[in-house]
Amino acid sequence: MTDESVYQQIILDHYKHPQHRQLLDDFDAQVHHVNPTCGDEVTLRVSLNGTTIADLGWEGEGCSISQASTSVMSDLVVGKSIDDALALQTRFLDLMQSQGQAELTEDDEDELEDAIAFEGVSKYPARVKCALLGWMAMKSAVAEARLLSEEST
Ligand code: ZN
Repeated sequence: MTDESVYQQIILDHYKHPQHRQLLDDFDAQVHHVNPTCGDEVTLRVSLNGTTIADLGWEGEGCSISQASTSVMSDLVVGKSIDDALALQTRFLDLMQSQGQAELTEDDEDELEDAIAFEGVSKYPARVKCALLGWMAMKSAVAEARLLSEEST
């Protein structure tokens, strides 16, 4: 199998079996993001424990790339420190903005895990927003949750 078909399989698996696709009852912040160019939507809730992402849950609809990417992101960031999750978000953003020219290091592959499967999406500017939707939602939910926790202390 080529990388490309392995990657397509990863995306398909996450689309069919999305991870953390259930809204949390207990949460610190909720965001709703849309990608109007494709019609993708995601509602995402995050729960922090100090400086760690204790849990994250989401619901969404839209194309397979947006839904699979949100699933992959959830899998990667739950249990991570906020700093690590945001560093990963930046790394994924860089990959998506690479226009198919990314030169991935072994370190990138280790860190991004299944998210590496979206590498090919970076060649299609119209789909990049689909792949980024969940990641952007996670970033703003974490920022909001942090702000709220600072206000309450
Ligand atoms: Zn889409």
